[in-house]
Amino acid sequence: MSPTDPTPALLTVTGLTKSFGANRVLDGVDLEVRRGDVLVLIGPSGSGKTTVLRCLNGLETPDEGVVAFDGGPRVDFAQKVAKADRGAVRARSAMVFQHHNLFPHLTVIENVIEGPVQAQGVPKATAVANAERLLARVGLAEKRDAYPSELSGGQQQRVGIVRALALQPDLLLFDEPTSALDPELVGEVLKVLRELANEGWTMVIVTHELGFAREVADEVLFFDEGAIVERGAPAKLFTQPQKERTRRFLDRLL
Ligand code: ADP
Repeated sequence: MSPTDPTPALLTVTGLTKSFGANRVLDGVDLEVRRGDVLVLIGPSGSGKTTVLRCLNGLETPDEGVVAFDGGPRVDFAQKVAKADRGAVRARSAMVFQHHNLFPHLTVIENVIEGPVQAQGVPKATAVANAERLLARVGLAEKRDAYPSELSGGQQQRVGIVRALALQPDLLLFDEPTSALDPELVGEVLKVLRELANEGWTMVIVTHELGFAREVADEVLFFDEGAIVERGAPAKLFTQPQKERTRRFLDRLL
């Protein structure tokens, strides 16, 4: 965001650090996400990308760092954080995992309405109507009453995406959403992500699909050893990386 841009970022993260024991996996990460933007995190395995998403979604607690959403909450993890503030941060985003994490004993529609009904107190009839609309949008209306085990991996992941959308978050977080899929199923999931990007959803995506990143990302962040080494528009970062480490990583993948 330029200093003259009057629109505040939806999310501003400053100085995020996290260690597991002696292993410092995030070492002062700063990032900003504007409304409607797609941020893509790339980098070698173990560089901390997933941990960033997990910190934003409340699955990990950072050691330090400020996470601030436009309109609140603003949480400084170096201080003692009230439970309500932690919950308020978590409520702004929804995460789609590498493995879909659907409940195996619940049907598709039951999986989708679980969060809205149980966690958000949405009336069941409203949640069902919303879930049906979202399932139709990703071409899964007829799978409403199927169990996850009756679906293909790509279909399961699309239900995972619908489950996140049903929470009506401000921010969607995707942790390598296609990396557990057979190659022939990757396309159908990327298609849904592309559509969400075009519809203006704000998204942070960890992915190794660089072609996809190039197409949808407003900004790409290259991580290595828990820090952002380089960031920029994909057209620039992929063709003219400024840092040797970025170049080496891209040379291996492109
Ligand atoms: P990436 O997503 O870039 O592959 P991760 O964020 O998953 O990287 O992991 C960064 C580092 O943190 C790795 O060294 C990983 O082993 C370590 N790590 C992640 N989660 C935990 C955990 N719960 N306990 C201990 N170490 C972890």
